[in-house]
Amino acid sequence: MVEQVQQRVVFDDLEIGEIAVELDDKEPQDVIAWALETFGDRIAVVTALQAEGMVVLDMAYRLKPDIRVITVDTGRLPQETYEFLDRVREHYPDARFEVLFPDYREVEVMVRKHGVNLFYKAVPLRLLCCHIRKVRPLLRALQNLDAWFTGLRREQWASRANIKKVELDHDHGGIVKVNALADWTKEEVWDYIRANNVPYHPLYDKGYTSIGCAPCTRSIQPGEDDRAGRWWWETNAPKECGIHCPIETGGFEHEVHAILGEAHGHLEEK
Ligand code: SF4
Repeated sequence: MVEQVQQRVVFDDLEIGEIAVELDDKEPQDVIAWALETFGDRIAVVTALQAEGMVVLDMAYRLKPDIRVITVDTGRLPQETYEFLDRVREHYPDARFEVLFPDYREVEVMVRKHGVNLFYKAVPLRLLCCHIRKVRPLLRALQNLDAWFTGLRREQWASRANIKKVELDHDHGGIVKVNALADWTKEEVWDYIRANNVPYHPLYDKGYTSIGCAPCTRSIQPGEDDRAGRWWWETNAPKECGIHCPIETGGFEHEVHAILGEAHGHLEEK
C-alpha cells in the first residue's frame, strides 16, 4: 500500500492575521474545526495534561478521534501524572498519543555538571533544565508539524495577554499556533470539564492550579496567583519553561550550547 503523505500547509503573517481576525469571536470548537480541516494530520494537540489541554483534546477528539496528542515525559513528573496519562489514554482510545523523552546524553551531561536538582540553585539553571528536559523534545516534534494546538489563555499570565486564537509561531519555524481557548476564563474551562465528563488531573483536587514537574510545582495558598505554585522559589522570573515565549537571561544560552556540544561529542571533535 502506498502511504499518502500530506503536503505541508504554510501561511504567511498577513494571511494568518486575516484568519485570526475572522476567528477571534468564534467558539473554540469552531477554531478547532477550522484547524483540523486546514491541517489534517499535520496538527497535534501538545499538552502537559492540564485542564486547558484536556478541554482542547476533548473538543478535537469529538471532531477527529484519531487526533495526534503529544506530551513530554521530562523524567521528573509526579506519579499522579503518569497514572493520569494512562486514564486519559483509556478515555480517548482512538487518539494517537506520542510521549516524548529528553535526550539521555544531554540529561547526563547536565546532571554531571550541575547536579540532579540544579533548578533550585539559580534561574538560568532552572531554564537550562526546562530546556533540556522539556523544550528540546518538543522542538523535535514541532519540526514535523505545520500547526499545534495549545491550551493557552490570555488571562493566565502577563506574557500570554496578547495571544491570538491563531498566530504564526516564529520561535518554531513559523508554523501555526492554535490557541482555541485564548479568550476563555478559568470558570469556562471547568464548566466544560464538568459538563462533558472530561478527565482532569487528580492534583487539582489537592490545591494545585498549574501542574508541571514534581520538584517544581506545589499547591497554592488562598489569594495567590494560579501560576504561583510553579518555580515558587524564584522572584522576578517568568513562570514559563521557554516553549511559549522567548526567554533571555544571559548565561543560559552559552550553557545550553556547551552541554549540547559535549552530549553529542562535538567538543571532543574540535
Ligand atoms: S519544571 Fe523543573 S524539573 Fe521540570 S524541566 Fe523545568 S526545571 Fe526541570
